This record gives sequence, C-alpha cells and structure tokens, in this order.
Amino acid sequence: MINYVSTRGSINTKTAAQAVIQGIAEDKGLYVPVNLPVLPFRLEELPGKTYQEIALKVISAFFTDYTEEEMKACVNGAYDNKFEEKEIAPLVQGGDAYFLELYHGKTAAFKDMALSILPYLLTTAMKKEKEEKRICILTATSGDTGKAALEGFADVPGTEIIVFYPNQGVSQVQERQMVTQEGENTHVFAINGNFDDAQTGVKRIFNDAVFAEELGKMNCKLSSANSINIGRLVPQVAYYVHSYAKMMEKGSLQAGEKMNIVVPTGNFGNILAAYYAKQMGIPVGKLICASNENKVLTDFINTGIYDIRRDFYLTNSPSMDILISSNLERLLYHLSGGNAAEVKALMESLDTEKVYEVSGKIKDGLKDFYAGFATVEETNRAIGAMYEKNGYLMDTHTAVAYKVYKDYVAETGDHTPAIIASTASAYKFADSVARSIGLEEEKDGFAYVKALHEKTGVRIPAGLKALESKPIRHTGVLDLEQMKESVKASLA
Ligand SMILES: *Cc1c(COP(=O)(O)O)cnc(C)c1O
Repeated sequence: MINYVSTRGSINTKTAAQAVIQGIAEDKGLYVPVNLPVLPFRLEELPGKTYQEIALKVISAFFTDYTEEEMKACVNGAYDNKFEEKEIAPLVQGGDAYFLELYHGKTAAFKDMALSILPYLLTTAMKKEKEEKRICILTATSGDTGKAALEGFADVPGTEIIVFYPNQGVSQVQERQMVTQEGENTHVFAINGNFDDAQTGVKRIFNDAVFAEELGKMNCKLSSANSINIGRLVPQVAYYVHSYAKMMEKGSLQAGEKMNIVVPTGNFGNILAAYYAKQMGIPVGKLICASNENKVLTDFINTGIYDIRRDFYLTNSPSMDILISSNLERLLYHLSGGNAAEVKALMESLDTEKVYEVSGKIKDGLKDFYAGFATVEETNRAIGAMYEKNGYLMDTHTAVAYKVYKDYVAETGDHTPAIIASTASAYKFADSVARSIGLEEEKDGFAYVKALHEKTGVRIPAGLKALESKPIRHTGVLDLEQMKESVKASLA
C-alpha cells in the first residue's frame, strides 16, 4: 500500500485517489508517495512488453488503491488508437542519440502521455471516493498542457475545465489549438502576464479557502491538471521504463547496463518522472536537465542556489519559458530524506526572498543530475545540423535537449547510450523549425506548416491539419486580477 503525503508536512496522509482528486495539498505542498515502489518487472522480462502492459504495472505500483480492473480500464481507455503510432512512444535513432518520441497523441506534445489517462484516473477516483461535486480543473499552461488537458477532459461527465495561457507567450499553432477547442465544459482565457503569473494565479485560487467554500455552494470542487497533480506525474514514469525495454530490444543495452536520460525541462515534471524510474530500479546514469535561456535550473543544479531574481525571456521553446519549476519541490523533498520542514522553509524563502540555497545533503543528491542550457541561436543551429546530417527533424524543445547532450558528451567524454525525451512535433513550432532548416520566410504559422511538410515529407499530426479552418470558440483576454471571477463565471 502506497500512501501520499504533502511535501510541506501537513499530517494527513492520502490514498492516491484522494490525492488525484485534490491536486494540491491544503498546506500548498505537493503530494509525494511516502516511499517509491520497486520496479514491478525484472529487467530481463521487459523486451517485447507493450506500452499498455508496462503502463498498467508501473502506474498500479504507485496507485495501489485502484483495483487491477479499474487500472486496466484507465490504461486501455487512454492508450489506444488516438495515438498515431502503435508503439505509443516509439524510440527512434537520430545521429548519435535515441529520441523517445512522446508526441504522437492528439495534441502533438508529450503532455498527451499523461493527460490522456488523467481524466480516467480522476473519474475513477471520484467513484471510489463517492465524490458528488463537479470537479473543476484549473490549469495554467505554457502552451501544451492547456490543449492536452482540454482534449482529455472535453465533455467528460462531472468535470469542467478552465485553461489560462499567457497572451503572446505561446506559438500561433498552440494558441489556435486552444481557442478552437470544442466541448460544453471547456473554458479558455488568455491572460496578460507570463506563465509564472498564470501558475501563481492558479495556485492562489487553489489556496483560497473562502473561494473554495463559495464554489462548494455551486457544487464545484477545484482540482489540477498541471504536473502538480500526482496523477499527471506517475503515468510519465511508464514511458521511461518502456524506453529501457526498447533499448534492450534494439540490442543497444543488456539488462543492467545504464542509459543516460536527457530531458528538455520546464516545470520539472518530465525529468522527475525519469528520476522516479531510476529510483524504482531502471539503470540510469545521469539525468541531464536541459533549459533554454530561462536557465534557473541550470544554475540551481550547478550551485545549489535557486534564484529567480533575473530577467524572463520569451524564447522559441515557449513550453520551457518558466522560472518557477513546481515539481522541483518534490525532488527537494526526496533528496532531503523527507524533511518537510526544510522544504517548507525553502519554498517560503522563494516566495518572499525570490531565492533559496539548499543544504549539503540536497546538494549531494543533485550529483545524479547534469544541467546545461541552449540559446535560441544554438537551438536553431542544432535543428539545422541534425536535419542536414541525419534527416531527423527535431522541434525546438527537443533541440534544446540535444544541444545540451552534445555539451555533456564534449565535457565528460561519457558515451553511455542516451535517450532524449522528444517532447513535441516539429509542426507545433513550424516557424522556427522551418527557418532553421533553411526555408524561406512565410506569412504565418500555418504557411510554415505547409512549407515544412513540402520540404521534409514528415507526416503532419492529424490534430494540426484542420486547425486553420476550425471556428474560434474562445476569445477572452483577462488581467491577472480577473482570474478568480472568470472561474466563477465559467462555472455558473
Ligand atoms: C511541457 C513541455 C516541456 C517541459 O516539461 P516539464 O515537465 O514541464 O519539465 C518541454 N517540452 C514541451 C514541448 C512541453 O510541452
């Protein structure tokens, strides 16, 4: 039996189902498993297993309160033919690395890997807990979570979904995906601020007890589809286990040999899932954390000081334009040996002083990680060079990771086989990608999609094809102080 506690130490332990419903803990902390489960497979038996078989066992190992039948229904409902690749998350060689392609779901970004199962995990949890209220999902997005959450929750009975994205802070394709979203229970707003403002605004609403009571009277209970929800994080562990199976199938690894994992990182959810896979028993060497010019995490991993007193940059990898990486709080909790008082003090320091420095014990734990960053120029160069040499097309986020991986190899000489989390289809960021491989300037994002397709022949994800002609359904633009009332109005 695995229970969940808050990283900030409130004494209530929860079952997984309760933690999934609640999203964020009462004391503002994030739910973490009290202890991490061991890998539910021997390494030797991994090759040949399907994605669904691996996901079922891995997620069940964390969510011990779900019955096998319940979890099977969740996994089979999520990972079906709405993914455009039968393997769900294929591992593809490009040059000297393996790309774990996580973007073959409906919205063409890796967020689909978790957000196609979260609605199942959540509605199952509501049944288990006899929750009668409507669950209202509040989501801040740097571009990809929003659309994936909207797709996942659209017209799911008993739920409403509200998404806030930074006005001018997402790509044209990303924005169009969100504002054309169908479904009676979907609500989308641009906010005048950046992603951190949106995320902070959402967290503030979660922590407003008076507002929660008001919503309660409207038969609503708030929850989260951001990676602060443990139901987002756990399903992501499955694809790292699956990638090890694929490496063994390809003969690139024997059972027990290590692989390195490179992750383009924003909110620290994806790389934390890789850390969990390692803790469970997948042989992983370095966890390589790649940032864009918003390189708070690079500096943190290299110095132990997390300092957000710096300029914020809008880059061409917008899903990583983040200064406050929420899931780092979970890593701090684990590395401190479960010292919630220490984590609470660090998070309060971040809130008030905008900076903190971790203890020696946490710094020691950070040695599992390597961190680096790529500028916009370096990102574009990486895309161009990879395409020219190997004919492999990377999106901007994946290219950030690849550039940092090259730096890592140059610096350390470590040639351990590496997998790079490939987090989005190149078509979501078609303008930057097209320009990086030498194509001419076009009039808008959609023209770039066409040009990129003509040049490369890479399949356009189905969800992006019809986008240009879809009617726009959501047009609201809000100031930060209007977020709360917009929630109430959406739920009325
Ligand atoms: C969300 C996202 C990331 C960052 O993932 P985190 O789990 O927030 O670190 C990277 N790339 C893309 C394309 C994304 O959508």
